[in-house]
Amino acid sequence: MPENCVARRLKVNGIVQGVGFRPFVFQLAEKFSLKGEVANTSSGVSIHIEGSPENLASFEKELSEKSPPLAYIIEISSQTEAVKNHADFAIVKSKGQAKMSTLISPDVSVCDDCRGEMLAPDDRRYHYPFINCTNCGPRYTIIDDIPYDRPKTSMRHFKMCPQCQAEYDDPTNRRFHAQPNACADCGPHVGLYDNQRNEIVPHTQAVKKAADLLKAGFILAIKGLGGYHLAADAANTDAVKQLRRRKLREEKPFAIMSYDLETIDHYARVGPVEEKLLTAIQRPIVLLKKKKPNPISEEVAPGNKYYGVMLPYTPLHYLLLAQGFDALVMTSGNLSEEPIAIDNADAFKRLFDIADYFLIHNRDIYLRSDDSIVRYAAGARRFLRRSRGFVPIPVFLRNEVPPILACGAEQKNTICLTRQDKAFLSQHIGDLENLPTYEFLKLTIAHLKRILDIEPEIIACDMHPDYLSTRYALKLQADHKIQVQHHHAHIVSCMAEHKLEGTVIGLSFDGTGYGTDGAIWGGEILVAREYDFERAGHLAYVPMPGSAAAIKEPWRMAVSYLQDAYGSDFCNLDLPALNEIDPEKLTIIGEMISKKINSPLTSSLGRLFDGVAAICGIRQRVNFEGQAAMELEMAATQDSDTIYDYAWDTGDAYRVLTEPIIRGVADDVVKGKPIGEISSRFHRTLIYLFTDMCVMIGQERELNRVVLSGGVFQNAILLTGLTRALEKKGFKVFSHQQVPTNDGGIALGQAVVAAAKIKR
Ligand SMILES: [Zn+2]
Ligand SMILES: [Zn+2]
Repeated sequence: MPENCVARRLKVNGIVQGVGFRPFVFQLAEKFSLKGEVANTSSGVSIHIEGSPENLASFEKELSEKSPPLAYIIEISSQTEAVKNHADFAIVKSKGQAKMSTLISPDVSVCDDCRGEMLAPDDRRYHYPFINCTNCGPRYTIIDDIPYDRPKTSMRHFKMCPQCQAEYDDPTNRRFHAQPNACADCGPHVGLYDNQRNEIVPHTQAVKKAADLLKAGFILAIKGLGGYHLAADAANTDAVKQLRRRKLREEKPFAIMSYDLETIDHYARVGPVEEKLLTAIQRPIVLLKKKKPNPISEEVAPGNKYYGVMLPYTPLHYLLLAQGFDALVMTSGNLSEEPIAIDNADAFKRLFDIADYFLIHNRDIYLRSDDSIVRYAAGARRFLRRSRGFVPIPVFLRNEVPPILACGAEQKNTICLTRQDKAFLSQHIGDLENLPTYEFLKLTIAHLKRILDIEPEIIACDMHPDYLSTRYALKLQADHKIQVQHHHAHIVSCMAEHKLEGTVIGLSFDGTGYGTDGAIWGGEILVAREYDFERAGHLAYVPMPGSAAAIKEPWRMAVSYLQDAYGSDFCNLDLPALNEIDPEKLTIIGEMISKKINSPLTSSLGRLFDGVAAICGIRQRVNFEGQAAMELEMAATQDSDTIYDYAWDTGDAYRVLTEPIIRGVADDVVKGKPIGEISSRFHRTLIYLFTDMCVMIGQERELNRVVLSGGVFQNAILLTGLTRALEKKGFKVFSHQQVPTNDGGIALGQAVVAAAKIKR
């Protein structure tokens, strides 16, 4: 040992197990001629390192800067220790029975090294569709229990061959302790079947034949990382139409996958930020503006300005796409709104009348995980769905909380479990409106509790008595059960992301949420803290004639707003949209409203968007929630510098009147103004209106932070415009970047509200 030898103890906290972190440390120690040891501990990795101070400093620097792609470091602590005169550097077994860290890595795309090997004819894994290493491949979806070790994963059925085992045991190898390590001799393989479960070619020819079938216009069910996809050639209109018909999906856009950025460039705009999102190891679906003309069938995303596009993320995807496609439709392997199929037998049973052929494999998926969906808006990545690739990375809270289970909302359900200062939001579970999805909710909760080692003491859920997630929560045994108001949970979920304390102004805008007065809220201006809120303002109530039917048929909302603005005289307006509606129906709806029959009251901004879209003639009926609002947004041309009148009255809370806005819109439509201009003006009006309200409430309450949350903020014009306008007025503005702004992120808020209430 040199004269100036010193020693330090470094503790690395985060996702550092099962991601090649110890071999990385080993190699780093060798590089700087340092001695010592590294071991896994209950909270991460512990390193004893000794050598010259300069080399130690370089080691520490590279430790944080050059960590493996799958590692997720929360913090590194460093302390001086006594020199122990180690002879070498070693990876040692964890001492004692310390429970291993239960931070598990998400599933990520195949890395460049593995891809290179897969495409090299002399490599022993040439064209092997399950190639992986410690830097890539499946994790979360193949884990059944902890600690994360091969026998606790779906790889337990495959015994490594001597060559794979040698890689697995060698600390200097890229596959050291890579639990899914495999090769064609010892690992999983693919197979191609018809929908009667007959294998149609030897498995070595499966991928090539599958590509031929896709080119011939057939629909294939393809087993992926987090579940089955249904695939079709995106350039083949007949195939895509057929898929829509069989999947019972009329107009909702299909996601597509292309081999590389260059191919995507043929049909969509890829700027630098989009490129970064597309190529990230999580490989989400990214919303990209369409280019015209392009080779993709109009049926892929009818009437939409965007495509949802992803790059391949499994080796199998790469092998398939390399057969020459502009793009493949890769949509969830399910019927309509059911959870995606993951199990081979289940897939054959549920998908046999949708798919003509099945490209399957024999590595089981233990937990399904849909593709994540992101877009770039208002200067940041925004989640429309946070699932594969991101789950189960936690959101780090500003303080420790007790173990909580939050059961989420009804639509786009996710659940949340907390441990210390970490909130684990589950993968996308779906809309809790059918039994399979409800079963999936229960399964996800049980699975996550097990692999995260969390036994919740507090249960949080929505206030809506009829949400299946609420009913489920209220049946559970727990010391505390806390029902959280929907829009409060939205705001607090965003506060939690940004570690905000104290009181904020919260603009909580969405389609539907149960209010404390039993009405349907959704255009809420809250003065909110973690543990409670005050409703400082909201959109004035209007009836929703037919209740849920008014969501599916925006023309009903149009009638409601028009009747509110003009009384029964609205029938005399020369609105082309109204002329399309059967006059008898109009009368019935009018009567439902005035007689208050099946017409619950709502303050929802989502419904106002629907109503305005219908008045503009954009859409009278929707095929999926938010379709009319989305099309209204896409219609905006950005060339309007005027706004509609707006007004509010005062009472217990400010009541924003929709009447002047509706009159303005209807007048413009009657005058024949272009829809694009009306839409721009409508958006601009909302931005001015809510900025004014924030200024007023901010002055009254001495608040200078505004938090934006709720599904309406998927609208990029509103998100960008409001952020800018509020910042101009001196506010600090916070919006979602880690979890979705829609109900997919709400469980996080429920958990934090519950923790704050209990603490008081
Ligand atoms: Zn790899
Ligand atoms: Zn092998």
